[in-house]
Amino acid sequence: MADHSYRGRFAPSPTGPLHFGSLVTALASYVEAKCHQGQWLVRIEDLDPLRESPQATEQILHSLTCHGLIPDEPVRFQSRRHDAYQNAITTLLDKGLAYRCACSRKQLQQHQGRHPERCRDGKSQPGDRPFAVRFALGDEVSHWHDELLGEQIQKVTAELDDPVILRKEGFYAYQLAVVVDDIDQGITDVVRGSDLLEMTAQQQQIYRALGATPPRWLHIPVILNARGQKLSKQNHAPALDDRQPASNLVRALEALGQQPPTGLRHATVQGILDWSVEHWRRQAIPLTSR
Ligand code: GLU
Repeated sequence: MADHSYRGRFAPSPTGPLHFGSLVTALASYVEAKCHQGQWLVRIEDLDPLRESPQATEQILHSLTCHGLIPDEPVRFQSRRHDAYQNAITTLLDKGLAYRCACSRKQLQQHQGRHPERCRDGKSQPGDRPFAVRFALGDEVSHWHDELLGEQIQKVTAELDDPVILRKEGFYAYQLAVVVDDIDQGITDVVRGSDLLEMTAQQQQIYRALGATPPRWLHIPVILNARGQKLSKQNHAPALDDRQPASNLVRALEALGQQPPTGLRHATVQGILDWSVEHWRRQAIPLTSR
């Protein structure tokens, strides 16, 4: 289906080198974009210098290149976008849709997630204490359609779920930056791991608060290791072997339920990507993690 307005992206946080699970996500978002004759972008979500390294960014970009996953526009780095996030926060504060919060984690726990200082109502100001900025969610039962998983119903509870958008340490948070950049880059379709599924209803409210229409979402099952844990840097998922891009891509296609022919692993990287776009069957992607 040709949809020249389609704009997708792969947006890794550089907490470590690319592993097999992230290749599966990258490949799915790439192929979805190319099947729609759309654009595919890469954005490095380097918001947290305490957990991330420039070396990981280099490794991720190198791995993507080795696997033929070349973006259609220059790579964007969130570390260079602080002004945009600050503007969004100012807008939200001005509209009364965000608030400064000096409550400690302990205080919130002791009050079952309620804010004892009534910071949400603007009743108390942090003064010179360190504060976070939180987005003020509205109570909502969100009904939305995931392009793979179908109808979703997600409950959002004002105050209890209010996400931090600027951390006390001064770092901008994922929940805000991902929305600001997806809006700014004109992303129409987000393909990402289902570990982020539950973030979606909150993100829809942030889109609306910033005056934008949410994109379509397609969440693919996360890849599990032999012990049933999500493949992630925290679980020490091994880095991809960049010397074997063809077999990595074929394994990723298999994980996505695409049944590549046996001989495909002997094709070139570009040959495998072309096969993927030509034979892509979204409905073959398994709905549950494996
Ligand atoms: N940066 C996020 C991550 O690596 C993904 C963001 C997204 O796709 O929405 O988990």
